[in-house]
Amino acid sequence: MGGTFDPVHHGHLVAASEVAARFDLDEVVFVPTGQPTFKLDQDVTAAEHRYLMTVIATASNPRFTVSRVDVDRSGVTYTVDTLRDLKTARPDAELLFITGADAIAQILTWKDADELFSMAQFVAVTRPGHALSVDGLPGDRVHVLEVPALAISSTDVRARAHAGQPVWYLVPDGVVQYIAKHRLYRGQS
Ligand code: ATP
Ligand code: MG
Repeated sequence: MGGTFDPVHHGHLVAASEVAARFDLDEVVFVPTGQPTFKLDQDVTAAEHRYLMTVIATASNPRFTVSRVDVDRSGVTYTVDTLRDLKTARPDAELLFITGADAIAQILTWKDADELFSMAQFVAVTRPGHALSVDGLPGDRVHVLEVPALAISSTDVRARAHAGQPVWYLVPDGVVQYIAKHRLYRGQS
């Protein structure tokens, strides 16, 4: 499951858990992006913070792991590179790339889009407020899954932290504490 995870929240975790159950996955690898392609104009929190929050959030689930492939690769993160690196680390694995309704809509604009579909299947999870458009995507490689609607976004969590409002129960407890400890999101509006 790829994402900026700035910060990781319960919407991500529920989506991952649902996909894991439905597709009977052995493992869900959370892959925090390095420099996100679609957020080049935004201030994104340092990769190490986003990586560590994702580790904290997933630590208690034996099937959830976190990969550093994107945070350790320099430059902009492209999903084709993510999939290549994961495939190298797990040559025998069948890969499913989990992503949200908003991201799948952009998939055809991703680098090496044709190659992507040969490297992995794609699971698009529904997300409140985002219509899911899979028109024009190969139906045998792209699956759509409805997950229980959690109207949580990292944008909202950051805005709350910035305004001094509580983020308890939107993100895992350890992530609440990590945000406070490192005073994340205080300087952004
Ligand atoms: P931001 O608001 O900064 O864009 P985000 O909440 O969208 O953050 P991302 O890290 O961009 O989080 O999300 C990673 C993936 O998880 C995306 O494909 C996104 O669609 C999906 N996702 C995020 N929040 C939810 C949610 N509440 N329910 C289902 N999917 C979600
Ligand atoms: Mg997003």
